[in-house]
Amino acid sequence: MIKKIAILGATGSIGISTLDVIKKNKKDFDVVLLTANNNYKKLSQQAKEFKARNVLISNKLFYKKVKKLLRNSKTKVFCGNTPIKKIVRGKLDYTMSAIVGIAGLQPTVDVIKISKIVAIANKEAIICGWDILSKYIKKYKTKILPVDSEHFSIMELTEGKTNNDIEEIIITASGGPFLNLHKNKMSKVTPTEAANHPNWKMGKKISIDSANLMNKVFEVIEAYKIFNFRKDKYRIVIHPQSYVHSIVRFKNGLIKMILYNTDMKIPISNTLYGKKNNIFKIRKIDTKFLSKMTFEDVNPKKFPSVNLIKKCLNFGPLTPTIVNASNEVLVNLFLTKKIGFLDIVKTINKIFKDKDFKKYAKRNPASLKNIKMTDNWARLKTTNLSI
Ligand code: NAD
Ligand code: MG
Repeated sequence: MIKKIAILGATGSIGISTLDVIKKNKKDFDVVLLTANNNYKKLSQQAKEFKARNVLISNKLFYKKVKKLLRNSKTKVFCGNTPIKKIVRGKLDYTMSAIVGIAGLQPTVDVIKISKIVAIANKEAIICGWDILSKYIKKYKTKILPVDSEHFSIMELTEGKTNNDIEEIIITASGGPFLNLHKNKMSKVTPTEAANHPNWKMGKKISIDSANLMNKVFEVIEAYKIFNFRKDKYRIVIHPQSYVHSIVRFKNGLIKMILYNTDMKIPISNTLYGKKNNIFKIRKIDTKFLSKMTFEDVNPKKFPSVNLIKKCLNFGPLTPTIVNASNEVLVNLFLTKKIGFLDIVKTINKIFKDKDFKKYAKRNPASLKNIKMTDNWARLKTTNLSI
């Protein structure tokens, strides 16, 4: 059966990997929608290559350029905030939600209403908007599949299990490019050095988040939101080789872990094909490397971001939204060299001391309006703290 699919954030690292996975079996897929923000050339090229029925370029400045590049094709072009339900007629079989940042929340809500399966890579949408997403997941009976490698693995390891079965869930962290750099040198690292992840090729924002371990802060929250396990079950362990993505210790004495190459096409293709097919050539993990696997605890003095996990999970339901918004602003300031690497986590910590923090953190998280207001407030505060 031909699958009707959509990819939100098609021009990014996850979006491109998703299209790579379907490339081998193009005839099995009807690409109904591809979306992007700025990269109009890539989006137009993808639309031609995959004969996409529709494309949406969020940044209106590039609308005419996409129109021009696709003038000889059947692809319909939309721009700005055009609601997805106005573009897509009927039900989709599968959507990949792979926009970066909270910008992906509204489109993810929209596709949950019209897609049978939504694979979510966009962790910011989960950590800020899970109360909203889960409401619509239930209402529309949508199947949600986490794509983040650790969460994809936790899903595999814990299917049918409850808190009573599980002692501990370990999310592994590579430690990023600065794992072995002396703590005193961290203040001077450049955006290029920070974005140079040793094991994964990813978008810039998640690469910076991986360098200071903010990515793991988000991943613990992401796991806590998606799965029904208690927050005190989660632990982060540094595993520099990144072969093991998650480890679960069960109360019956068994420990299970999932290993695979650092290639996001593996979780992506499993969400697309329902684990059935080995549809692309996977680089084998040489078993002699398995003897070189190492695990160590996180040093919170070197990576103080990890102290934010408790705060995020205990200080009010919209605390993750505040931390995420603040982090999005700060990562951009770091990438444009306006602040130093260590200022990211330092400034996030300052937000907690603001007199209005509690008011915003305690708002009802099941309202998109509340999330947007809280997100705006945190962005403004962070910008003021940084100039
Ligand atoms: P990326 O920066 O490579 O791509 C982001 C995509 O989102 C692009 O297509 C861009 O056009 C689109 N986009 C950005 N801002 C937008 C906006 N305002 N409106 C509409 N579209 C917008 O990012 P990525 O590395 O592919 O990551 C995507 C998401 O997946 C992130 O949430 C990330 O944390 C998560 N994730 C990525 C990886 C990975 O290996 N890259 C692994 C796990 C999770
Ligand atoms: Mg991950």
